Amino acid sequence: MSDPRHPPLGLSRRQLLKWGAGVGAAGLLTATRAQARPIESRAHIVILGGGAGGMAMANRLANRTRGTTITLVEPREIHHYQPGWTLVASGVWNADKTLRPNADFVPAGIRWERQAATAIDAESRRVTLANGEVLAYDALVVATGLQLNYHLIEGMSPELVGSHGIGSVYASIDAASRTHQAIETWIAQGGGRGLFTAAPTPVKCAGAPLKMTFTTLSRLEATGRRDAFQVDYMAPGDALFSQPWVNDFVKQRFDEQGVNRYHQYRLSAIDPGARQATFTRVDREAQFTSHHELREAEFRRPEGLTEVIDYDFIHVVPPMSAPDFVKQSALIAQEGPFAGEWLDVDIHTMQHNRYPEVFGIGDVIGAPINKTAASVKAQAPVVEANLLAHLQEQPLPARHNGYTSCPLITGIGKAMLVEFGYDNNLDFLPSFPFIDPRDESWAAWVMKDRMLQPAYYAVLEGQA
Ligand code: FAD
Repeated sequence: MSDPRHPPLGLSRRQLLKWGAGVGAAGLLTATRAQARPIESRAHIVILGGGAGGMAMANRLANRTRGTTITLVEPREIHHYQPGWTLVASGVWNADKTLRPNADFVPAGIRWERQAATAIDAESRRVTLANGEVLAYDALVVATGLQLNYHLIEGMSPELVGSHGIGSVYASIDAASRTHQAIETWIAQGGGRGLFTAAPTPVKCAGAPLKMTFTTLSRLEATGRRDAFQVDYMAPGDALFSQPWVNDFVKQRFDEQGVNRYHQYRLSAIDPGARQATFTRVDREAQFTSHHELREAEFRRPEGLTEVIDYDFIHVVPPMSAPDFVKQSALIAQEGPFAGEWLDVDIHTMQHNRYPEVFGIGDVIGAPINKTAASVKAQAPVVEANLLAHLQEQPLPARHNGYTSCPLITGIGKAMLVEFGYDNNLDFLPSFPFIDPRDESWAAWVMKDRMLQPAYYAVLEGQA
Protein backbone atom coordinates (compact mmCIF):
# COMPACT_ATOMS: atom_id res chain seq x y z
CA MET A 1 0.00 0.00 0.00
CA SER A 2 1.27 3.49 -0.75
CA ASP A 3 2.45 5.79 2.03
CA PRO A 4 -0.16 8.62 2.27
CA ARG A 5 2.64 11.13 2.92
CA HIS A 6 4.18 10.42 -0.51
CA PRO A 7 2.31 11.43 -3.65
CA PRO A 8 2.43 8.72 -6.32
CA LEU A 9 5.16 9.38 -8.89
CA GLY A 10 4.39 11.17 -12.14
CA LEU A 11 1.35 13.10 -10.94
CA SER A 12 0.01 15.81 -13.18
CA ARG A 13 -0.60 19.31 -11.76
CA ARG A 14 -4.32 18.52 -11.47
CA GLN A 15 -3.69 15.16 -9.79
CA LEU A 16 -1.20 16.65 -7.30
CA LEU A 17 -3.75 19.30 -6.31
CA LYS A 18 -6.42 16.63 -5.85
CA TRP A 19 -4.05 14.48 -3.78
CA GLY A 20 -3.01 17.49 -1.72
CA ALA A 21 -6.58 18.59 -1.03
CA GLY A 22 -7.52 15.10 0.13
CA VAL A 23 -4.50 14.76 2.37
CA GLY A 24 -4.97 18.26 3.77
CA ALA A 25 -8.65 17.86 4.42
CA ALA A 26 -8.04 14.58 6.20
CA GLY A 27 -5.54 16.30 8.46
CA LEU A 28 -2.91 13.75 7.47
CA LEU A 29 -0.48 16.47 6.55
CA THR A 30 0.29 16.37 10.19
CA ALA A 31 0.48 13.55 12.68
CA THR A 32 -3.00 12.21 13.41
CA ARG A 33 -4.12 12.99 16.92
CA ALA A 34 -3.98 10.02 19.26
CA GLN A 35 -7.11 9.78 21.41
CA ALA A 36 -6.27 9.63 25.09
CA ARG A 37 -8.72 9.12 27.94
CA PRO A 38 -10.18 12.27 29.55
CA ILE A 39 -9.12 13.17 33.06
CA GLU A 40 -11.51 14.17 35.88
CA SER A 41 -10.89 17.56 37.49
CA ARG A 42 -12.87 20.39 39.09
CA ALA A 43 -10.29 22.97 37.98
CA HIS A 44 -11.18 26.27 36.33
CA ILE A 45 -8.95 26.65 33.29
CA VAL A 46 -8.78 30.10 31.72
CA ILE A 47 -7.41 30.52 28.19
CA LEU A 48 -6.41 34.05 27.19
CA GLY A 49 -6.73 34.49 23.43
CA GLY A 50 -8.61 32.33 20.93
CA GLY A 51 -6.30 32.56 17.92
CA ALA A 52 -4.32 29.59 16.61
CA GLY A 53 -2.90 28.56 20.00
CA GLY A 54 -5.83 29.43 22.28
CA MET A 55 -8.47 27.82 20.06
CA ALA A 56 -6.38 24.65 19.69
CA MET A 57 -6.07 24.49 23.48
CA ALA A 58 -9.80 25.13 24.04
CA ASN A 59 -10.65 22.14 21.82
CA ARG A 60 -7.95 19.89 23.21
CA LEU A 61 -8.77 20.62 26.85
CA ALA A 62 -12.52 20.33 26.25
CA ASN A 63 -11.89 16.86 24.75
CA ARG A 64 -9.48 15.72 27.42
CA THR A 65 -11.21 16.83 30.64
CA ARG A 66 -14.41 16.00 32.51
CA GLY A 67 -15.74 18.21 35.31
CA THR A 68 -13.53 21.21 34.52
CA THR A 69 -14.79 24.71 33.77
CA ILE A 70 -13.01 26.16 30.74
CA THR A 71 -13.26 29.87 29.93
CA LEU A 72 -11.93 31.16 26.62
CA VAL A 73 -11.32 34.92 26.62
CA GLU A 74 -11.37 36.16 23.01
CA PRO A 75 -12.91 39.48 21.92
CA ARG A 76 -13.07 38.75 18.19
CA GLU A 77 -16.05 37.18 16.41
CA ILE A 78 -13.95 36.39 13.34
CA HIS A 79 -10.89 34.16 13.10
CA HIS A 80 -8.10 35.48 10.89
CA TYR A 81 -5.94 33.00 8.96
CA GLN A 82 -2.76 35.08 9.11
CA PRO A 83 -0.55 32.72 7.04
CA GLY A 84 -2.76 33.75 4.07
CA TRP A 85 -1.95 37.43 4.45
CA THR A 86 1.26 37.32 2.38
CA LEU A 87 -0.79 35.76 -0.44
CA VAL A 88 -3.37 38.57 -0.12
CA ALA A 89 -0.67 41.26 -0.12
CA SER A 90 0.89 39.63 -3.17
CA GLY A 91 -2.42 39.71 -5.05
CA VAL A 92 -2.78 35.91 -5.17
CA TRP A 93 -5.72 35.52 -2.72
CA ASN A 94 -8.82 37.55 -1.91
CA ALA A 95 -9.04 38.74 1.69
CA ASP A 96 -12.33 36.83 2.23
CA LYS A 97 -10.49 33.55 1.97
CA THR A 98 -8.71 34.24 5.27
CA LEU A 99 -11.81 34.87 7.41
CA ARG A 100 -14.04 32.44 9.33
CA PRO A 101 -16.38 32.92 12.29
CA ASN A 102 -14.82 31.95 15.61
CA ALA A 103 -18.12 30.23 16.42
CA ASP A 104 -17.09 27.53 13.90
CA PHE A 105 -14.26 26.53 16.20
CA VAL A 106 -15.33 27.18 19.80
CA PRO A 107 -16.14 23.79 21.34
CA ALA A 108 -19.50 23.12 22.98
CA GLY A 109 -19.61 23.24 26.77
CA ILE A 110 -17.01 25.94 27.36
CA ARG A 111 -17.62 29.54 28.33
CA TRP A 112 -16.59 32.10 25.70
CA GLU A 113 -15.98 35.62 27.07
CA ARG A 114 -16.30 37.90 24.04
CA GLN A 115 -14.07 40.62 25.46
CA ALA A 116 -10.39 41.32 26.08
CA ALA A 117 -8.45 40.56 29.23
CA THR A 118 -6.88 43.69 30.69
CA ALA A 119 -4.77 42.47 33.63
CA ILE A 120 -3.29 39.32 35.14
CA ASP A 121 -2.57 39.03 38.86
CA ALA A 122 -0.33 35.98 38.92
CA GLU A 123 0.03 35.93 42.73
CA SER A 124 -3.70 35.73 43.40
CA ARG A 125 -4.40 33.78 40.17
CA ARG A 126 -6.90 36.25 38.79
CA VAL A 127 -7.55 37.78 35.40
CA THR A 128 -9.46 41.04 34.92
CA LEU A 129 -11.63 41.49 31.85
CA ALA A 130 -12.47 44.69 29.96
CA ASN A 131 -15.89 44.96 31.65
CA GLY A 132 -14.25 44.79 35.09
CA GLU A 133 -15.24 41.19 35.77
CA VAL A 134 -12.55 39.16 37.56
CA LEU A 135 -11.92 35.49 36.78
CA ALA A 136 -10.14 33.30 39.33
CA TYR A 137 -8.24 30.40 37.74
CA ASP A 138 -6.58 27.17 38.80
CA ALA A 139 -4.68 26.92 35.52
CA LEU A 140 -4.03 29.63 32.94
CA VAL A 141 -3.03 29.33 29.28
CA VAL A 142 -1.60 32.56 27.88
CA ALA A 143 -2.22 32.55 24.12
CA THR A 144 -2.69 36.24 23.35
CA GLY A 145 -0.35 36.35 20.39
CA LEU A 146 1.87 39.40 20.12
CA GLN A 147 1.57 43.16 19.87
CA LEU A 148 2.65 45.16 16.82
CA ASN A 149 4.58 48.20 18.05
CA TYR A 150 4.20 50.56 15.09
CA HIS A 151 4.34 53.45 17.56
CA LEU A 152 8.09 52.80 18.06
CA ILE A 153 8.63 54.03 14.48
CA GLU A 154 8.17 57.79 14.69
CA GLY A 155 5.51 59.05 12.27
CA MET A 156 4.21 55.56 11.47
CA SER A 157 0.76 54.16 12.16
CA PRO A 158 -1.09 51.17 10.68
CA GLU A 159 -3.74 53.53 9.24
CA LEU A 160 -1.10 54.85 6.81
CA VAL A 161 -0.76 51.47 5.09
CA GLY A 162 -1.95 51.76 1.51
CA SER A 163 -1.24 55.48 1.23
CA HIS A 164 1.98 57.44 0.60
CA GLY A 165 3.65 54.32 -0.87
CA ILE A 166 3.48 52.48 2.45
CA GLY A 167 2.84 48.74 2.73
CA SER A 168 2.86 46.48 5.78
CA VAL A 169 1.54 42.93 5.55
CA TYR A 170 1.48 42.52 9.34
CA ALA A 171 -1.00 45.20 10.40
CA SER A 172 -4.29 43.40 9.58
CA ILE A 173 -6.06 41.64 6.74
CA ASP A 174 -7.25 45.06 5.47
CA ALA A 175 -3.67 46.29 5.59
CA ALA A 176 -2.57 43.22 3.60
CA SER A 177 -5.08 44.21 0.87
CA ARG A 178 -3.94 47.83 1.03
CA THR A 179 -0.31 46.68 0.81
CA HIS A 180 -1.22 44.97 -2.47
CA GLN A 181 -2.72 48.26 -3.70
CA ALA A 182 0.43 50.17 -2.71
CA ILE A 183 2.61 47.70 -4.62
CA GLU A 184 0.30 47.99 -7.66
CA THR A 185 0.56 51.78 -7.52
CA TRP A 186 4.36 51.60 -7.38
CA ILE A 187 4.45 49.23 -10.36
CA ALA A 188 2.05 51.47 -12.31
CA GLN A 189 4.38 54.40 -11.59
CA GLY A 190 6.88 52.59 -13.84
CA GLY A 191 9.97 52.81 -11.65
CA GLY A 192 11.51 54.16 -8.47
CA ARG A 193 13.00 52.95 -5.23
CA GLY A 194 11.44 50.33 -2.95
CA LEU A 195 12.66 49.74 0.60
CA PHE A 196 11.86 46.43 2.32
CA THR A 197 12.50 46.64 6.04
CA ALA A 198 12.81 44.10 8.87
CA ALA A 199 12.43 44.51 12.64
CA PRO A 200 15.09 44.43 15.36
CA THR A 201 12.90 42.17 17.55
CA PRO A 202 11.59 38.64 17.15
CA VAL A 203 8.63 38.75 14.72
CA LYS A 204 5.84 36.35 13.79
CA CYS A 205 6.58 34.43 10.61
CA ALA A 206 10.15 35.67 10.26
CA GLY A 207 9.96 34.72 6.59
CA ALA A 208 7.12 37.17 5.81
CA PRO A 209 9.34 40.24 5.13
CA LEU A 210 11.40 38.09 2.75
CA LYS A 211 8.28 36.62 1.11
CA MET A 212 6.98 40.16 0.44
CA THR A 213 10.31 41.04 -1.19
CA PHE A 214 10.35 37.92 -3.37
CA THR A 215 6.73 38.16 -4.56
CA THR A 216 7.19 41.84 -5.36
CA LEU A 217 10.35 40.96 -7.32
CA SER A 218 8.26 38.50 -9.36
CA ARG A 219 5.81 41.28 -10.15
CA LEU A 220 8.60 43.72 -11.07
CA GLU A 221 10.31 41.14 -13.29
CA ALA A 222 6.98 40.47 -15.04
CA THR A 223 6.81 44.14 -16.15
CA GLY A 224 9.80 43.54 -18.43
CA ARG A 225 11.30 46.74 -16.99
CA ARG A 226 12.94 45.36 -13.84
CA ASP A 227 15.90 47.77 -14.23
CA ALA A 228 13.61 50.76 -13.75
CA PHE A 229 12.98 49.67 -10.15
CA GLN A 230 15.54 49.81 -7.34
CA VAL A 231 14.94 47.24 -4.61
CA ASP A 232 16.73 47.61 -1.27
CA TYR A 233 16.47 45.26 1.72
CA MET A 234 17.16 47.01 5.03
CA ALA A 235 18.24 44.49 7.68
CA PRO A 236 18.66 45.58 11.31
CA GLY A 237 21.50 43.10 11.83
CA ASP A 238 23.87 40.86 9.90
CA ALA A 239 21.38 38.07 9.29
CA LEU A 240 18.31 38.04 7.06
CA PHE A 241 16.97 34.83 8.64
CA SER A 242 17.92 32.91 11.79
CA GLN A 243 18.51 29.52 10.16
CA PRO A 244 22.04 29.70 8.69
CA TRP A 245 21.45 27.78 5.43
CA VAL A 246 18.31 29.81 4.64
CA ASN A 247 20.16 33.02 5.52
CA ASP A 248 22.95 32.19 3.03
CA PHE A 249 20.42 31.16 0.38
CA VAL A 250 18.43 34.39 0.66
CA LYS A 251 21.57 36.56 0.58
CA GLN A 252 22.76 34.81 -2.57
CA ARG A 253 19.33 35.01 -4.19
CA PHE A 254 19.04 38.72 -3.38
CA ASP A 255 22.46 39.29 -4.95
CA GLU A 256 21.38 37.38 -8.08
CA GLN A 257 18.09 39.27 -8.34
CA GLY A 258 19.68 42.68 -7.96
CA VAL A 259 18.44 43.44 -4.44
CA ASN A 260 20.80 45.78 -2.60
CA ARG A 261 21.37 44.61 0.98
CA TYR A 262 21.87 47.16 3.74
CA HIS A 263 22.87 45.72 7.11
CA GLN A 264 22.61 47.34 10.59
CA TYR A 265 19.82 49.58 9.30
CA ARG A 266 16.83 49.89 11.63
CA LEU A 267 13.75 51.88 10.58
CA SER A 268 13.26 54.52 13.27
CA ALA A 269 11.06 57.19 11.62
CA ILE A 270 8.98 57.78 8.56
CA ASP A 271 7.77 60.98 6.92
CA PRO A 272 4.84 59.85 4.74
CA GLY A 273 4.27 63.23 3.07
CA ALA A 274 7.89 63.54 1.99
CA ARG A 275 8.20 59.76 1.35
CA GLN A 276 11.35 59.62 3.44
CA ALA A 277 12.43 56.95 5.91
CA THR A 278 14.97 57.46 8.67
CA PHE A 279 17.19 54.54 9.56
CA THR A 280 19.28 54.23 12.69
CA ARG A 281 22.68 52.74 12.00
CA VAL A 282 23.12 50.35 14.92
CA ASP A 283 26.69 49.81 16.08
CA ARG A 284 27.77 46.49 14.52
CA GLU A 285 29.80 45.54 17.59
CA ALA A 286 27.07 46.24 20.11
CA GLN A 287 25.32 43.22 21.58
CA PHE A 288 21.84 43.94 22.87
CA THR A 289 20.09 41.48 25.12
CA SER A 290 16.68 43.06 24.74
CA HIS A 291 14.73 45.52 22.70
CA HIS A 292 14.72 47.83 25.75
CA GLU A 293 18.51 47.98 25.66
CA LEU A 294 18.52 48.61 21.97
CA ARG A 295 16.11 51.53 22.41
CA GLU A 296 18.29 52.89 25.21
CA ALA A 297 21.32 52.76 22.94
CA GLU A 298 19.45 54.66 20.27
CA PHE A 299 18.61 57.47 22.66
CA ARG A 300 22.32 57.72 23.43
CA ARG A 301 23.35 57.54 19.79
CA PRO A 302 25.74 60.17 18.50
CA GLU A 303 24.36 62.43 15.79
CA GLY A 304 25.24 61.17 12.36
CA LEU A 305 24.27 57.59 13.03
CA THR A 306 20.97 58.09 11.27
CA GLU A 307 20.38 58.13 7.54
CA VAL A 308 17.38 59.55 5.70
CA ILE A 309 16.42 57.69 2.52
CA ASP A 310 13.83 58.66 -0.13
CA TYR A 311 11.46 55.95 -1.27
CA ASP A 312 8.63 55.39 -3.72
CA PHE A 313 7.42 52.27 -1.88
CA ILE A 314 8.31 51.01 1.59
CA HIS A 315 7.33 47.75 3.28
CA VAL A 316 7.30 48.37 7.02
CA VAL A 317 7.86 45.62 9.59
CA PRO A 318 7.15 46.91 13.12
CA PRO A 319 8.97 45.88 16.31
CA MET A 320 6.92 43.27 18.17
CA SER A 321 6.49 42.20 21.80
CA ALA A 322 4.01 40.54 24.14
CA PRO A 323 0.85 42.67 24.61
CA ASP A 324 1.17 45.51 27.14
CA PHE A 325 -1.12 43.88 29.72
CA VAL A 326 1.08 40.76 29.73
CA LYS A 327 4.19 42.95 29.97
CA GLN A 328 2.70 44.71 32.98
CA SER A 329 2.11 41.39 34.78
CA ALA A 330 4.51 39.30 36.83
CA LEU A 331 4.40 36.69 34.07
CA ILE A 332 6.79 38.64 31.85
CA ALA A 333 10.42 37.49 31.69
CA GLN A 334 12.47 39.23 34.37
CA GLU A 335 15.95 38.57 32.98
CA GLY A 336 17.77 37.26 29.94
CA PRO A 337 17.10 38.00 26.26
CA PHE A 338 13.30 38.16 26.69
CA ALA A 339 13.23 40.41 29.78
CA GLY A 340 10.37 42.89 29.81
CA GLU A 341 9.16 41.81 26.37
CA TRP A 342 8.01 38.16 26.25
CA LEU A 343 6.26 35.55 28.44
CA ASP A 344 8.64 33.69 30.74
CA VAL A 345 8.18 29.98 29.93
CA ASP A 346 10.40 26.95 29.80
CA ILE A 347 10.82 26.65 26.02
CA HIS A 348 10.61 22.84 26.18
CA THR A 349 7.75 22.21 28.66
CA MET A 350 5.87 25.47 27.90
CA GLN A 351 5.26 25.87 31.65
CA HIS A 352 5.86 29.27 33.23
CA ASN A 353 9.27 29.45 34.87
CA ARG A 354 7.91 30.89 38.15
CA TYR A 355 4.16 30.19 38.21
CA PRO A 356 3.67 26.45 37.58
CA GLU A 357 -0.10 26.73 37.00
CA VAL A 358 0.57 29.00 34.00
CA PHE A 359 1.43 27.73 30.51
CA GLY A 360 2.15 29.67 27.33
CA ILE A 361 1.64 28.85 23.67
CA GLY A 362 2.24 30.65 20.40
CA ASP A 363 3.70 34.03 19.56
CA VAL A 364 3.63 35.45 23.11
CA ILE A 365 6.34 33.19 24.52
CA GLY A 366 9.98 34.10 24.88
CA ALA A 367 11.80 31.59 22.67
CA PRO A 368 14.70 31.92 20.24
CA ILE A 369 12.54 30.84 17.26
CA ASN A 370 8.94 29.66 17.04
CA LYS A 371 6.51 32.44 16.15
CA THR A 372 4.56 30.46 13.56
CA ALA A 373 1.29 28.54 13.36
CA ALA A 374 3.44 25.51 12.58
CA SER A 375 5.05 25.94 16.02
CA VAL A 376 1.61 26.21 17.59
CA LYS A 377 0.75 22.83 16.07
CA ALA A 378 3.85 21.31 17.65
CA GLN A 379 3.36 23.08 20.99
CA ALA A 380 -0.34 22.28 21.49
CA PRO A 381 0.03 18.56 22.37
CA VAL A 382 2.90 19.49 24.71
CA VAL A 383 0.83 22.11 26.55
CA GLU A 384 -2.11 19.70 26.72
CA ALA A 385 -0.08 16.83 28.19
CA ASN A 386 1.85 19.02 30.63
CA LEU A 387 -1.10 21.09 31.84
CA LEU A 388 -3.14 17.94 32.51
CA ALA A 389 -0.17 16.36 34.31
CA HIS A 390 0.14 19.52 36.42
CA LEU A 391 -3.55 19.29 37.40
CA GLN A 392 -2.96 15.68 38.45
CA GLU A 393 0.25 16.60 40.32
CA GLN A 394 2.26 14.36 38.00
CA PRO A 395 5.69 15.08 36.46
CA LEU A 396 5.45 16.88 33.12
CA PRO A 397 5.74 14.22 30.38
CA ALA A 398 6.10 16.25 27.15
CA ARG A 399 8.80 18.43 25.59
CA HIS A 400 8.72 20.78 22.61
CA ASN A 401 11.72 20.54 20.28
CA GLY A 402 11.27 24.03 18.84
CA TYR A 403 9.70 22.82 15.58
CA THR A 404 8.88 25.68 13.27
CA SER A 405 8.20 25.83 9.57
CA CYS A 406 8.22 28.52 6.96
CA PRO A 407 6.95 27.89 3.46
CA LEU A 408 9.42 30.46 2.16
CA ILE A 409 7.86 31.90 -0.97
CA THR A 410 10.74 32.70 -3.32
CA GLY A 411 8.56 34.06 -6.12
CA ILE A 412 4.98 33.76 -7.31
CA GLY A 413 4.51 30.03 -8.03
CA LYS A 414 7.57 28.71 -6.18
CA ALA A 415 8.54 28.15 -2.55
CA MET A 416 10.78 26.14 -0.22
CA LEU A 417 9.34 24.21 2.70
CA VAL A 418 11.86 25.10 5.37
CA GLU A 419 11.45 23.24 8.68
CA PHE A 420 13.75 23.27 11.69
CA GLY A 421 13.82 23.28 15.48
CA TYR A 422 15.88 24.71 18.34
CA ASP A 423 18.92 22.87 16.92
CA ASN A 424 18.57 24.72 13.55
CA ASN A 425 18.96 21.44 11.62
CA LEU A 426 17.06 21.59 8.31
CA ASP A 427 17.10 17.81 7.77
CA PHE A 428 15.87 16.76 11.17
CA LEU A 429 12.13 17.40 11.02
CA PRO A 430 10.85 17.11 7.42
CA SER A 431 7.09 16.56 7.12
CA PHE A 432 7.28 15.61 3.46
CA PRO A 433 10.21 13.38 2.48
CA PHE A 434 9.49 14.16 -1.20
CA ILE A 435 10.13 17.89 -0.71
CA ASP A 436 13.80 18.80 -0.32
CA PRO A 437 13.94 21.80 2.07
CA ARG A 438 16.82 23.19 -0.01
CA ASP A 439 14.94 23.14 -3.32
CA GLU A 440 12.52 25.70 -4.63
CA SER A 441 9.53 23.87 -6.03
CA TRP A 442 6.05 24.29 -7.32
CA ALA A 443 4.97 21.48 -4.92
CA ALA A 444 6.03 23.62 -1.92
CA TRP A 445 4.04 26.53 -3.39
CA VAL A 446 1.00 24.24 -3.64
CA MET A 447 1.45 23.37 0.06
CA LYS A 448 1.36 27.06 0.92
CA ASP A 449 -1.37 28.02 -1.53
CA ARG A 450 -3.77 25.07 -1.18
CA MET A 451 -2.94 22.65 1.60
CA LEU A 452 -1.79 24.46 4.72
CA GLN A 453 -5.10 26.19 5.37
CA PRO A 454 -7.15 22.98 5.94
CA ALA A 455 -4.28 21.60 8.03
CA TYR A 456 -4.29 24.84 10.07
CA TYR A 457 -8.04 24.59 10.72
CA ALA A 458 -7.51 21.00 11.87
CA VAL A 459 -5.04 22.37 14.46
CA LEU A 460 -7.65 24.86 15.70
CA GLU A 461 -10.16 22.04 16.04
CA GLY A 462 -7.68 20.09 18.15
CA GLN A 463 -7.48 17.37 15.47
CA ALA A 464 -3.82 17.74 14.60
P1 FAD B 1 -2.84 34.62 17.17
O1 FAD B 1 -3.24 33.57 16.20
O2 FAD B 1 -2.44 35.94 16.65
O3 FAD B 1 -4.03 34.76 18.20
C1 FAD B 1 -3.98 35.63 19.32
C2 FAD B 1 -5.42 35.85 19.77
O4 FAD B 1 -5.40 36.51 21.04
C3 FAD B 1 -6.22 36.72 18.81
O5 FAD B 1 -7.39 36.05 18.42
C4 FAD B 1 -6.51 37.99 19.62
O6 FAD B 1 -7.79 38.53 19.33
C5 FAD B 1 -6.44 37.46 21.05
N1 FAD B 1 -6.09 38.50 22.02
C6 FAD B 1 -5.18 39.48 21.91
N2 FAD B 1 -5.17 40.26 23.01
C7 FAD B 1 -6.10 39.73 23.84
C8 FAD B 1 -6.56 40.10 25.12
N3 FAD B 1 -6.10 41.17 25.76
N4 FAD B 1 -7.53 39.35 25.69
C9 FAD B 1 -8.03 38.25 25.05
N5 FAD B 1 -7.63 37.87 23.81
C10 FAD B 1 -6.67 38.61 23.22
N6 FAD B 1 2.68 30.87 10.43
C11 FAD B 1 2.99 29.73 9.75
O7 FAD B 1 3.05 28.66 10.36
N7 FAD B 1 3.22 29.75 8.41
C12 FAD B 1 3.15 30.87 7.68
O8 FAD B 1 3.35 30.86 6.46
C13 FAD B 1 2.82 32.10 8.36
N8 FAD B 1 2.74 33.27 7.68
C14 FAD B 1 2.37 34.41 8.35
C15 FAD B 1 2.28 35.59 7.64
C16 FAD B 1 1.88 36.77 8.28
C17 FAD B 1 1.80 38.04 7.50
C18 FAD B 1 1.55 36.74 9.65
C19 FAD B 1 1.06 38.00 10.34
C20 FAD B 1 1.66 35.56 10.37
C21 FAD B 1 2.09 34.39 9.74
N9 FAD B 1 2.25 33.20 10.43
C22 FAD B 1 2.59 32.04 9.76
C23 FAD B 1 2.25 33.22 11.90
C24 FAD B 1 1.00 32.69 12.55
O9 FAD B 1 -0.17 33.31 12.06
C25 FAD B 1 1.11 32.94 14.06
O10 FAD B 1 2.35 32.44 14.51
C26 FAD B 1 0.00 32.25 14.82
O11 FAD B 1 -1.24 32.81 14.46
C27 FAD B 1 0.25 32.37 16.33
O12 FAD B 1 -0.86 31.94 17.06
P2 FAD B 1 -1.21 32.65 18.45
O13 FAD B 1 -2.38 31.92 18.99
O14 FAD B 1 -0.01 32.77 19.29
O15 FAD B 1 -1.61 34.13 18.05
